[in-house]
Amino acid sequence: MGIKVLAPDVAAKIAAGEVVERPASVVKELVENAIDAGSRSIRVEIQQGGKRLIQVMDDGCGIPTDEAPLAFARHATSKLSSINDLNRVTTLGFRGEALASIASVSRLTLVTRPKAQATATRIRIEGGTSPEISPAGGPAGTIITIENLFYNVPARLKFLKADATEAGHIHRIVSHYALAYPHIRFTLQNDKRSTFQTNGNGELFDALAAVLSTETARQMIPVISDDVSDERYNHTSGEGQTSAPFVQGYAGAPSLHRGLRDQIIFFVNKRWIQDRALSQAVVQAYHTFLPVGRYPIAVLNIELDPADVDVNVHPTKAEVKFQNPRGIFKAVQKAVREAVISASPVPGYSSTTFTPSDFSTEFAGNRGHAGDTAPWRTMGDHRPSQAFSQLGFEAQRTSAGDLSFDHGEFNPMAAPLPSTDMPIMRVVGQIQQMYIVAEGPDGLYLVDQHAAHERILYEKLTEQKKTAAVARQQLLEPVMVELTAGQAAVVEAEGEALTEVGFELELFGGGTYRIRALPEMLGQADPGQALSDVLAEMADGAIPLARETHEKIAITVCKRASIKGGQVLSQAEMRELMRQLEQTSAPRTCPHGRPTMIRLSMAQLAKEFGRI
Ligand code: ADP
Ligand code: MG
Repeated sequence: MGIKVLAPDVAAKIAAGEVVERPASVVKELVENAIDAGSRSIRVEIQQGGKRLIQVMDDGCGIPTDEAPLAFARHATSKLSSINDLNRVTTLGFRGEALASIASVSRLTLVTRPKAQATATRIRIEGGTSPEISPAGGPAGTIITIENLFYNVPARLKFLKADATEAGHIHRIVSHYALAYPHIRFTLQNDKRSTFQTNGNGELFDALAAVLSTETARQMIPVISDDVSDERYNHTSGEGQTSAPFVQGYAGAPSLHRGLRDQIIFFVNKRWIQDRALSQAVVQAYHTFLPVGRYPIAVLNIELDPADVDVNVHPTKAEVKFQNPRGIFKAVQKAVREAVISASPVPGYSSTTFTPSDFSTEFAGNRGHAGDTAPWRTMGDHRPSQAFSQLGFEAQRTSAGDLSFDHGEFNPMAAPLPSTDMPIMRVVGQIQQMYIVAEGPDGLYLVDQHAAHERILYEKLTEQKKTAAVARQQLLEPVMVELTAGQAAVVEAEGEALTEVGFELELFGGGTYRIRALPEMLGQADPGQALSDVLAEMADGAIPLARETHEKIAITVCKRASIKGGQVLSQAEMRELMRQLEQTSAPRTCPHGRPTMIRLSMAQLAKEFGRI
């Protein structure tokens, strides 16, 4: 087949795939349009996870009749006029592509009326065909209805997840925008049931309470950067003159920690963005305040001169590029650190600005096991040589001059042991309260205590599930827990799998559930915290997609239940752990598929010491 320019309708569908990946992407674009239209009230309704129906209704400026058909033309926008405007975008939309893309992969109906116009305009487009336009009755504002998303792109349809999962993603989008725009009233209705709403009174606290539960919101600390004209910000970065960012929002009290980073939420000029470095800035701001492997909650808006941020770098506008990333990193870290310290009774911590390098070693250490499911974690992080430097081998390396540990030599994947075998080992000790040092017949082993325990628990649980004899712990008093709509969606969709591993849950009403029993292995945990950790991890999708849901839940429960880094183990405990690990069917990997141990062979030792 020779090279051809795609027919415009085919090209449109492909391009649509970039912005319109799933129902939640449609909701994101439509909600952004409604916000850009100056709405005070935005109502989102979905059916069947948005696959059957998505409707977004706003009371914004509406589109005049003569302009309405243009809204569906590609690259047609009212928000930019020249290329220079791209350097100072102040609206959420700017590419003029969303409506065209959405219309090409769905059945779309638009009813819109500016206040000053007596009648509304109705436009109907099926799969990108030419619009049918007619006058209609309708309130001031805009109602867009998307039916049967992807009905004409079966390849995309196939990749959509269960209704509850898609609804969960939509909930996330709506609730995040509700946090960014507390003066807008947001309502979300899912399959005819109201699942989320804010009152639009302009109070961020109230929006927080709606999104995270009142209980959680009460434990949040206000964050506000106090030094807008900070000299250091302007002059130390070497990245050119930029005006100072203004950071504002809420950060959770250290007691509110979570198992994942997904509740560290950022907005830049009220645009929801994802940024790994900024999440890390927040995590670092809690340095020494949180248990190892736990993450804070934060909701922060960074107000910047629009000229200092490029919003046109990502297909779904989910990431931005800062002119002065380092300055922003510092500003975020400092504002959060000060808030956390001001609210903390722990004495002895100074509030001087922390720089990334102050923490890097420490945090590299923690990540070894705790960042397990962090979305940006890559296989590279598991390189054993890094593990070695985490253990303090770094110092030896420096003092010994050019002594270097080669990745290949330490690569556990390359170790000649079959994955189902584990040699008999003698426990020597524990280092960094994280790794067990052991001697085997063929070398020195370092065993990750958390990963090893995960493997043991996982096999225990799998065994119990086979015989339907999962050990559960009945609570004497049922515990009430308030779940976010996203978490409740997981409970509804995966109730059976949760029961299978030992949870007994009952809907009490609203977003409140009663926990009657917990998996026995979580018996020591705070029931509400344990449940929400498990749900957060399920919702995050950090576990490989190929796994069955019930298996994922089992993995998550085991992860939650296993001993963590930072826990001192006695010799007897370590020996017992190794004994149990030996009996598992795959002792050398944890259920997530990562190594539980790495080896330094005798030959390698001899070589490094110059004996051979
Ligand atoms: P963009 O938002 O990038 O401009 P879209 O394709 O999302 O592109 O929308 C095209 C145009 O349609 C917008 O520039 C705006 O003028 C108009 N529009 C879309 N949605 C609304 C709405 N809810 N209220 C008013 N105008 C809207
Ligand atoms: Mg738009």
